[in-house]
Amino acid sequence: MNLVLLGAPGAGKGTQRAFLVQRYGIPVIATGDTLRDERKADTPLGRQVAPIMDRGDLVPDDLLVQIVNKRLQQPDTQRGFILDGFPRTLAQAQALDRILAETGRALDAVIYLRVSRQVLIDRLAHRYVCRTCGSVYTFKPEEVRNLPRCPKDGGELYQRPDDRPEVVARRIDVFLQQTAPLIDYYSNQRKLENIDGQLPVEQVREAILRKLKTLEPANT
Ligand SMILES: [Zn+2]
Repeated sequence: MNLVLLGAPGAGKGTQRAFLVQRYGIPVIATGDTLRDERKADTPLGRQVAPIMDRGDLVPDDLLVQIVNKRLQQPDTQRGFILDGFPRTLAQAQALDRILAETGRALDAVIYLRVSRQVLIDRLAHRYVCRTCGSVYTFKPEEVRNLPRCPKDGGELYQRPDDRPEVVARRIDVFLQQTAPLIDYYSNQRKLENIDGQLPVEQVREAILRKLKTLEPANT
């Protein structure tokens, strides 16, 4: 199953992604995680993208295409993959189609988690990450004043620099603006699966599963 998981920051991709990995046993290619790892390790790529990410801007197409192309050459992606955070622009989507075609592959579906702008802003402004295990938690505004420790390991929770309120609205607007042509592109290819991302997590999961079942070969 060759999938793209599409959704604005805060649309709930991380949660659904974990479920898809478990269900299909295929690797995730998450450009956002890759970039954050590069920053943490202070690599040349990490230093290059840091100021761009901190402004809430998108990382240039050619850099991301390089990262994804390299990853898709690895044998564990032959049985399928879940792309998360890529493609974000029409140029990236076209590059992805070319990369896959070179190895006789194609996308099976693009799962788009739809969530309204205001709901996204509310969710992200109260999102915190555990320093120890990386788990992501969303709080109600009144809960943030007395921030708990991570329930799993007691780790300290912090807000990612790109989740800070002043950056959040900009990230979301950049996303919505850049991905509009992408939605049309995959819609025309009849690969776009619209999912209501404002439903409870379990219902979102069920909706995705129903869509994907129709794509599975009959003998599995
Ligand atoms: Zn933790």
